[in-house]
Amino acid sequence: MSNVKHLECTICHRTYKDIPDMMTCPACGEKGILDVIYDYDKIRAVVDKDYFKHQDDHSIWRYLPFLPVDPRYTKNTLRVGMTPLYDSLELGQSLGIDNLYVKDEGLNPTQSLKDRASVIAVVKAKEAGYDTVACASTGNAASSLAGNSAKVGLSSVIFVPKRAPTGKLAQLLAYGAKLFKVDGDYRDTYELSKQAIAKYGWYNRNAAVNPFLVEGKKTVALEIAEQLDFDVPDWVVVSVGDGCTIAGVFKGFMDLFEIGMIERIPKLLGVQSEGCQPFVSAWESNEDLIPTAENTIADSIAVGIPRNPIKAIRAVKNSTGRWISVSDSAILEAMRLLGKTEGIFAEPAAACALAGLIKARKLGFINKSDRTVVICTGNGLKDTANALSAFKEPTLVKNDISELDAQMR
Ligand SMILES: *Cc1c(COP(=O)(O)O)cnc(C)c1O
Repeated sequence: MSNVKHLECTICHRTYKDIPDMMTCPACGEKGILDVIYDYDKIRAVVDKDYFKHQDDHSIWRYLPFLPVDPRYTKNTLRVGMTPLYDSLELGQSLGIDNLYVKDEGLNPTQSLKDRASVIAVVKAKEAGYDTVACASTGNAASSLAGNSAKVGLSSVIFVPKRAPTGKLAQLLAYGAKLFKVDGDYRDTYELSKQAIAKYGWYNRNAAVNPFLVEGKKTVALEIAEQLDFDVPDWVVVSVGDGCTIAGVFKGFMDLFEIGMIERIPKLLGVQSEGCQPFVSAWESNEDLIPTAENTIADSIAVGIPRNPIKAIRAVKNSTGRWISVSDSAILEAMRLLGKTEGIFAEPAAACALAGLIKARKLGFINKSDRTVVICTGNGLKDTANALSAFKEPTLVKNDISELDAQMR
């Protein structure tokens, strides 16, 4: 039904049958993240440029041959994906990049890239016959899972750290989720969710351990390639928390490379916030990841213990890309610039990617002539408190034109 060959452990390379609620490798335990392996001959047999010309599905289901799902369960989902890839002339000019594009993932149904993973999660949960799905999340995966579950008639149970922004909480409550705010950081939140999922037998939407979710996230790369007519960019810039998004971006380009639709893999720039940068530190010291504190306004990527390090590190390395970190003030500056030049309101974790690109440009390892795509992973309305801290207080005036005149001067 799908083109999946089997699941393969990223550590011991044992292979397993494709079962919808298979999580990590039984032999390697929790660290044994599985990778979904496809039969590329089968995909190649149906997918070429003409395939896309005749595709009239405008959601991620247009990429069905690349996805690990049973098409019978994809009919009544939220419409995820096919977000715009803007040709960002003015922003490019201000950064000194000739060809810059912004992929606005804030235009997904629950306003973040997480929808690409959540819609897969609810389909897999349906395939396996579950009625409840659960996850731990810094906020976006939570609201996304809640929305996508609601649409297909599943219940959702969500664990968030108590710092989660109110916008995201309001959103997931509106979708009818059962919400637990955990008195602790994301690490505590994740641990409690893990125990609860095991105890109550819910479907596990924790992106790092669920091998199918990266497959949803990879559709952002499939789209970028299609939107650029399969002439892929030199760099793709992504903000990184757990590491599933950047791993997905790499997988999407690899799939297209495997079937001969693109000639090379773009370099990936993984961006973290200085206040929580385990990947950047590991890369700089060439050592294993060390758990770190979570001190940044970019809450969606404040992940002190990344759960998917293998795939993320591999993605950056195999793309010959690199890692970089930026300060919170640089993130807010990038947020202002993106709003002002592109009309896109990004949440801090999303603006982080642009801040990374600005720094990379200054350091000179991304050149003026490098065609570059920045992925804006989530919408700013989810966290207005942090956004407002980046701007001056608005001017309060009376209903009096002469007072306004005075203020306008
Ligand atoms: C989750 C998220 C990321 C990072 O994705 P990971 O898979 O955790 O690396 C980046 N930006 C936003 C807005 C997110 O919600």
